Amino acid sequence: PLAETSKPGLLGRLMGRALPNAAPRRVLDDEMLEQLEELLIASDMGVETALRVTANMAEGRMGRKLSSEEIRRLMATEIARIMEPVARPMPLTPQRPQVVLVVGVNGSGKTTTIGKLASQFKAAGKSVVIAAGDTFRAAAVEQLQVWGDRAGVPVMVAPQGSDPASLAFDAMAKAEADGADLLLIDTAGRLSNRADLMEELAKIVRVIRKKDPTAPHNTLLVLDATTGQNALTQVDVFKKLSDVSGLVMTKLDGTAKGGVLVALADRFGLPIHAIGVGEQVDDLDAFDPEEFAAALVG
Ligand code: GDP
Repeated sequence: PLAETSKPGLLGRLMGRALPNAAPRRVLDDEMLEQLEELLIASDMGVETALRVTANMAEGRMGRKLSSEEIRRLMATEIARIMEPVARPMPLTPQRPQVVLVVGVNGSGKTTTIGKLASQFKAAGKSVVIAAGDTFRAAAVEQLQVWGDRAGVPVMVAPQGSDPASLAFDAMAKAEADGADLLLIDTAGRLSNRADLMEELAKIVRVIRKKDPTAPHNTLLVLDATTGQNALTQVDVFKKLSDVSGLVMTKLDGTAKGGVLVALADRFGLPIHAIGVGEQVDDLDAFDPEEFAAALVG
């Protein structure tokens, strides 16, 4: 559980400094709201979202005297309210295999997330096939093989630099032949040449649709929470490159500027299917808005 395992986020530390628990009760006025806004913005929430949170906090409460504890609780409640609609696990669909395309920039945690998902689905009694679709990155392919071996999940690989779409097609054939429940497809995350990447992703989709016109059934965008506001840009970019259906936020175990999740929820409304809270197989949790808000506010 996030609230117990993680230290207070950046926002929590800022709040602790600005409004120590021992501070006397303070009147909720414009000055205080401005101060709270600044704290929210500093936690990577973005101006628009910060204003929404403080406006909601203020509603019907202006002029009231509040303790630091009450202010924190109020802030956590308002943050959780924004997050609630996006807290949804990845939907399981009736198709076999259910094809899950995993996209995101290199280093965001795609490989690790696929490994964790494969293990968790396997443990839940599902059969899984992994396609190591970033055929240019030998390290990513090796990592996936390690995760696959550990989970007892077959990993389809292709010679370095070969066509990812052709690998995806083979993996689809293998998953169909095995009667697998899920096919998890890793993809390249080189944003240096977006046109190439877009074509590569589009080709993977075209090819798997030859076997199942409804595929992919989910397109997960993996985002590194420690990149702060960059995550917003990455969603913008990947929404153009692919049909993003949900998010996985990784590295929420560190001193992540988790405020960006609130901005993401507020701006895009994409479901957050899971959060990464470490490098181990069990470190992938469902997203719990109340725990998250409590941990963020500290
Ligand atoms: P990829 O390039 O997108 O495939 O990213 P990787 O899966 O290789 O992850 C990059 C680095 O981040 C690796 O060192 C992972 O162990 C680490 N990592 C991934 N997810 C998490 C997480 O949730 N928490 C932490 N602390 N590290 C993570």
